[in-house]
Amino acid sequence: MRKNSIYIHFPYCLRKCNYCDFVSFPCGENVPDLMEYYLKEIELYQQKFGRKKISSIYFGGGTPSLLPSNVIEAIIEKIYRLYDVDDDVEITLEVNPKTVSDKKLSEFYKVGINRLSIGVQSFDDDELRFLGRIHSSDDAVECIESAKKYFENINCDFIYALPNQSLEKWQKNLEKITKLDVKHLSLYELIIEPKTPLWLWVKNGKIKPISESVAKKMYEWTNHFLRDKFPQYEISNYAKKGFESRHNLNYWNGGDYIGIGVSASGRIFDGAKHFISENPKNIDEWKKNIDGEILPIKPLSKKKRAEEMLIMGLRKNNGIKFNEFKQNSGVDFFDMVDVQKFQNMVKKKFLILCESSVRTSVKGRTLLDAIIREIIK
Ligand code: SF4
Repeated sequence: MRKNSIYIHFPYCLRKCNYCDFVSFPCGENVPDLMEYYLKEIELYQQKFGRKKISSIYFGGGTPSLLPSNVIEAIIEKIYRLYDVDDDVEITLEVNPKTVSDKKLSEFYKVGINRLSIGVQSFDDDELRFLGRIHSSDDAVECIESAKKYFENINCDFIYALPNQSLEKWQKNLEKITKLDVKHLSLYELIIEPKTPLWLWVKNGKIKPISESVAKKMYEWTNHFLRDKFPQYEISNYAKKGFESRHNLNYWNGGDYIGIGVSASGRIFDGAKHFISENPKNIDEWKKNIDGEILPIKPLSKKKRAEEMLIMGLRKNNGIKFNEFKQNSGVDFFDMVDVQKFQNMVKKKFLILCESSVRTSVKGRTLLDAIIREIIK
């Protein structure tokens, strides 16, 4: 049976971070109310595609922890009413440490959230200021400690390879988080995205990005350091056994997801066809669509969907199982690749080919984008 997830995008933050190119808008203390739009959009999808079985729900952003718990509760209730929700559904909320109190965390727990993803990014206050985060290292520790009273399943996000960051500084961050008993880590290399303040600073010569060789060393050290504590299961994700993110695994395994909210996208298989949905990035346009009961859905070719699944699948440590790939995409894996180039990557030990699956080697993981570009037909 195909797995289905629901993603809800909340597009507001108290302030914009210096590296951020997500669809998020600074709102200060006046958090806009989008609840009726969310409820309506959830209903429109159910009317269009029926009562799907839901295995995970994810509130992302932006800063969805700015939402009052009663709004989260209303959304979860609506999903339960209209969909067939798994008994052990995973419901994640992204949290900015500065936006929650102990009381608010307990309320999130009571309304059904069972996994938190806390944006820590660094335990170094200078690095946090550089990134433009609104919280301090102490705020993050306090948030993690409070969260542990109510939640067992906690992820923390970190960013590494900052300009001027030494390997030692990054090591300190990781050593500290492994002592705080969380269950999952998402560790992302800093990407300088166009048009962000960071990008302007690089352009004006105010800062210099870290060298590729130091970034690579950090990644390799991370994988080595976490090997026994938090086994890596995706290129940027590490988890204690049994705490891998079900929601993200569904994306990477080529499952379906319904995207709710401004800029959210979705992939839905309905009978014999794949569909893609892409919501407008502009809030007024998104609202106008919902008011007019318009869902921006288009058919997606089997080949395009298979290409996405190939790109995502090779990010996972256990790679792609050929039978699952065929089942989810409708396309044979070997029809998607240039077989000679693929074999060449296997020969060079960038890819590990087994009878029923293929995965990326440790060596191949640092070159994944180039490998995919090379093998895809
Ligand atoms: S909190 Fe997250 S979404 Fe908001 S501005 Fe910062 S990085 Fe972007």
